[in-house]
Amino acid sequence: MSKYLIKIDRKTIKKNPNAGSTVTLVPGIVDHYIDDNGNEVWERPVQRIYHEAERSYLYKYKNNIVQCNECKKRFGVNKLESDSYGYDDIYSDTICPYCGMWNCCEIEYEQFDKEMMK
Ligand SMILES: [Zn+2]
Repeated sequence: MSKYLIKIDRKTIKKNPNAGSTVTLVPGIVDHYIDDNGNEVWERPVQRIYHEAERSYLYKYKNNIVQCNECKKRFGVNKLESDSYGYDDIYSDTICPYCGMWNCCEIEYEQFDKEMMK
């Protein structure tokens, strides 16, 4: 079983303007009700989503051609599908878009390195 190394597209590397940020504001569902004084109220709550600090750089991976081990079709790595069963115990992000085979090929993503900026 061959393994594909998906490389970072050097042209897409850029600094992340939100680097280090740990919170993202997401608009919630509009709430519409009549308050105790009979006034009509429209509210749009803002939800704060906390997450790990955003990485310093943004980049995309090249859309390399990979081959399905099952149906032998060749396609861009971006076409691979992902799915999970139950509580994400069983997960695959390398599902063939043609025959639906799970783990249809083995992929390794290149690690980002600041040296790539040069
Ligand atoms: Zn396939």
